Amino acid sequence: MNRQEAIAGVRRVVVKFGTGLLTDSDRALDAGRVAALADQIAALWARGLEVAVVSSGAIGAGMTELGLAKRPTDLAELQACAAVGQTKLMSLYEAAFRRHNLRVAQILLTHDDLSDRDRHLNARNTLDTLLARRVVPIINENDTVSVAEIRFGDNDRLSALVATLLPADLLVILTSAEGLMSKPDGTGERISVVEKVDASIERMAGGAGSAQSVGGMISKLQSARIVAAAGIPLVIANGKRGGTLEQALAGGDVGTLFLASVKKMASRKRWIAFYHRPTGYLVVDDGARKALAASGRSLLARGVVRTGGTFSSGDVVAIRDRDGIEFARGVARLASADIADARQSKTTPEVVHRNDLVLL
Ligand code: GLU
Repeated sequence: MNRQEAIAGVRRVVVKFGTGLLTDSDRALDAGRVAALADQIAALWARGLEVAVVSSGAIGAGMTELGLAKRPTDLAELQACAAVGQTKLMSLYEAAFRRHNLRVAQILLTHDDLSDRDRHLNARNTLDTLLARRVVPIINENDTVSVAEIRFGDNDRLSALVATLLPADLLVILTSAEGLMSKPDGTGERISVVEKVDASIERMAGGAGSAQSVGGMISKLQSARIVAAAGIPLVIANGKRGGTLEQALAGGDVGTLFLASVKKMASRKRWIAFYHRPTGYLVVDDGARKALAASGRSLLARGVVRTGGTFSSGDVVAIRDRDGIEFARGVARLASADIADARQSKTTPEVVHRNDLVLL
């Protein structure tokens, strides 16, 4: 598939801006850059596309406002920075988009906002409504309340989960790099198209990014895996160059395009697959693995070899093969405490119904 074909028909786009892109060399928010990026987004709206923005930069902006030279390590200090910086960030976006007669809306999310089914659907409905009203949603992690267990981790992941939530037809991650480069230190040649993120692609991604940014290329590849599995292509490109977005949307050879691996998954399956951190798991035998993977069957109790962790009926659990590799996820119909009895039962109860099961 060539780049034009992969991008053809794209209507709804999520664009992510990293901290490195939004801050200047003093680490202050670069108002000129924000305005230039807003111009590019506005141009897409003018062409009839719907564009949501995932923006980092709150902590960096807060550091400047509070006169901190170094990124704090203390959680409360970081959260205070984010709270101060977020309003600064929004005021810049508001002014920048106003020049194009576009309004902005602030959306701050934590991970459990999207793993809880009702809140997940509410977030999606709100985003849908904003887009329908030609309002540009500006989304960030709710850093002020996020602690480790409820964090997305980084905005690359957040952008992938927002793109999957909507769903978008395309995710664009704009960064200060040209895209995925062939060498782990970020040199070598730019890779134009990636069909599948495999071990050889992962070797090309270096370690973490710059001092201020959380995610390096590794976290971007994880995002690529999420959106690819959800059926959404991803472009990673240099947002410091003018016209990058327009070129990417025209199918031009800019940055790295990661192709989507399948057709779009249904909404409930996306929610099962990507928005949970299952604490419980089921290990299944080879027969059950084949029945699930090849024939799309439900998981019956007799195929379960053992369980791990504790889960209740209705929880999303990981489904692993005998080697411990997670190959599917699903909603358990039985609690972990009831599985042993179910395995003895002559009626072979279903542990995960096929409608509640997603192959990874
Ligand atoms: N939410 C953080 C901020 O706005 C950024 C996290 C990230 O860049 O991944 O400062």
